Amino acid sequence: MTTTLAIANQKGGVAKTTTVASLGAALAELGHSVLLVDLDPQACLTFSLGIDPEDLEVSVHQVLTRGTDPTEVVIATEDGVDLLPATIELARAEADLLTRTGREHVVKGVIEDLDGAYDWVLLDCPPSLGVLTVAALTAADGVLVPLQCETLSHRGVGQLLDTVHDVRRFTNKRLEVWGVLPTLYDGRTNHSRTVLETIAETYSLDVVEPPIPKTIKFAEAPAAGRSILATSRSSKGAQAYRKVAANLVERAARPRARAKKPAARR
Ligand code: ADP
Ligand code: MG
Repeated sequence: MTTTLAIANQKGGVAKTTTVASLGAALAELGHSVLLVDLDPQACLTFSLGIDPEDLEVSVHQVLTRGTDPTEVVIATEDGVDLLPATIELARAEADLLTRTGREHVVKGVIEDLDGAYDWVLLDCPPSLGVLTVAALTAADGVLVPLQCETLSHRGVGQLLDTVHDVRRFTNKRLEVWGVLPTLYDGRTNHSRTVLETIAETYSLDVVEPPIPKTIKFAEAPAAGRSILATSRSSKGAQAYRKVAANLVERAARPRARAKKPAARR
């Protein structure tokens, strides 16, 4: 069975793409088959895995808007994961899909077409709450929210959770919030911990452990076209992502929540 996880936060620079690439590589190390889907027109995930979007003739854009077979577009990467790449063309997808019936279901349809070929599908969402993010949430079993705890960056969390709530009501009853993942985390300061605790309490969210430490190693990985798990194998950042991946595997094995039935009348 495929577990589909959306990595979402409408704020940019919170390590969504880094998390998708690193967790993908960590899950592959654990022997799982993994597909990463780049849903950001900026194509940072595609680029960071060593693929130049400008060299691509087809991308996730054609898969979503023209029904191109995803297996014709998927690329095997050196990190041991498959990638459904993006190009700047995807910027048009929001507009192209806006007038389409069933647009919220386009990503879900693609994953269904893959027919369980992967243990995990990780969706790298763009920094907005537009059509592509809603389509990702509609396709997902769970959503993971990377959060930078350095600043009061959580103002957007409420908005994201409102979107999740709407998705659950209208397009995907089984969507669960798997929790916030603290990223760019500086454990030496009490401030980070305080911010994290405040957010978890305010929104009653689980915190996915361990926090991902802030380290310069992450800046080097994308230029090498590999994730930090390959460029800096034993760094603290790589180790943290391996532990998070192991925790996600455990979580995926838990029985899934059923859509709530109305309480029985007495
Ligand atoms: P997003 O996809 O949310 O916009 P990115 O994954 O692109 O965020 O990360 C934004 C920037 O932060 C990138 O330059 C990335 O290399 C850097 N970065 C990500 N995680 C870390 C970390 N743990 N420590 C230091 N830099 C990081
Ligand atoms: Mg990104």
